[in-house]
Amino acid sequence: VVEMVGLRKSFGDREVLKGIDLTVTPGEVVCIIGPSGSGKSTLLRCVNQLEEATGGTVTVLGTEITDPDVDIDAVRQRVGMVFQQFNLFTHQTVLENCTVAQRKVLRRSKAEAEEVAMRNLAHVGLADRAPAHPSHLSGGQQQRVAIARALSMDPQLMLFDEPTSALDPELVGDVLSVMRALAERGMTMLVVTHEMAFAREVADRVVFMDDGQIVEQGAPAQVIGAPQHERTQAFLERVL
Ligand code: ATP
Ligand code: MG
Repeated sequence: VVEMVGLRKSFGDREVLKGIDLTVTPGEVVCIIGPSGSGKSTLLRCVNQLEEATGGTVTVLGTEITDPDVDIDAVRQRVGMVFQQFNLFTHQTVLENCTVAQRKVLRRSKAEAEEVAMRNLAHVGLADRAPAHPSHLSGGQQQRVAIARALSMDPQLMLFDEPTSALDPELVGDVLSVMRALAERGMTMLVVTHEMAFAREVADRVVFMDDGQIVEQGAPAQVIGAPQHERTQAFLERVL
């Protein structure tokens, strides 16, 4: 689903990704962990070209997006992204938030878009809030709407960038449960997270990044439970 080969990214003369090789296979849940500034968000943003690579190749859903002639919008349509800040449209209802892109991008009818939106709002436990405005929802509910909105586009890959780190602690669990259920339904997911318990339980593979490089990756029990590299050990000692 995703294949990065020798991915490099610089901002000015500062190299933030220093040759990343990473593959995500269908149905796989890959969690990326690592210290602040290690390049996790930049890596994720290279998957839908919110950042343009300065070297190497990135192939997403069979399309090499680092090819300058690529139709990136066609790829982006099939990739859902959920950020730390939920970025909902505040002047629209929850339902409208979940139908606008379906209608504009996928050209679905109002009835079909609403049916799909309601199904996804039900998946995140918020069908009853469809007529509400986002400002009347808690942060955790807003983030679940953001997930439902992304799912309503029928993505084949979901990217999450610290989806719970802006939330009050008591709201984190609901969002993680939604993500866990999504993983169990077989969604391919690339997740940047600081939630080690989630990574340990849900990830098929954990990738530890430091200073623009993948230092270590493998099964959660291996990377989180028995890290081999001293940088991984030092990071985990700080966060666990
Ligand atoms: P955090 O855990 O704090 O979110 P991160 O691992 O996601 O960190 P990135 O956001 O990918 O880290 O940033 C990696 C480095 O790239 C940082 O040093 C950051 O300052 C730099 N950087 C990110 N985006 C830009 C940009 N648009 N322009 C210049 N530098 C940037
Ligand atoms: Mg980040």
